[in-house]
Amino acid sequence: MEKYKSLGLKLTPQRLAILDYLDGNKEHPSAETIYKAVTRKFPTMSFATVYNTLEHLKERGYLIELHLDPEKKRFDPDTKPHHHFVCVKCHKIVDIFHEFPLYLSRLEEEGFQILKATIEFYGRCPKCKKLERK
Ligand SMILES: [Zn+2]
Ligand SMILES: [Zn+2]
Repeated sequence: MEKYKSLGLKLTPQRLAILDYLDGNKEHPSAETIYKAVTRKFPTMSFATVYNTLEHLKERGYLIELHLDPEKKRFDPDTKPHHHFVCVKCHKIVDIFHEFPLYLSRLEEEGFQILKATIEFYGRCPKCKKLERK
């Protein structure tokens, strides 16, 4: 409860359910997935409530919108800098916490200042890799 104080949101039980669902969530869920999960507890919750809450969290920097899944936007509650692995078959998204030293001295010499860089890895997850072999 305390940690959500700075959100600038009126914390209704519905919104709390969304925040709880996202807390520590590593699945990079879509708005639809979040909606499905929270309506189990609050069947009357509208998709608009979920969507608007996600937008608000995103604007406040509590949530990152990912465009790695070609079918839908996905959300990442982990705002620490990290990279992602994306399965091209099932669109599973996995965090990669590893620093890759990249030197773009040429760009910096030209006066550009690099603030952040994220790398996307595409491939097959162990599950899809196994299915492929059969
Ligand atoms: Zn997969
Ligand atoms: Zn992530």
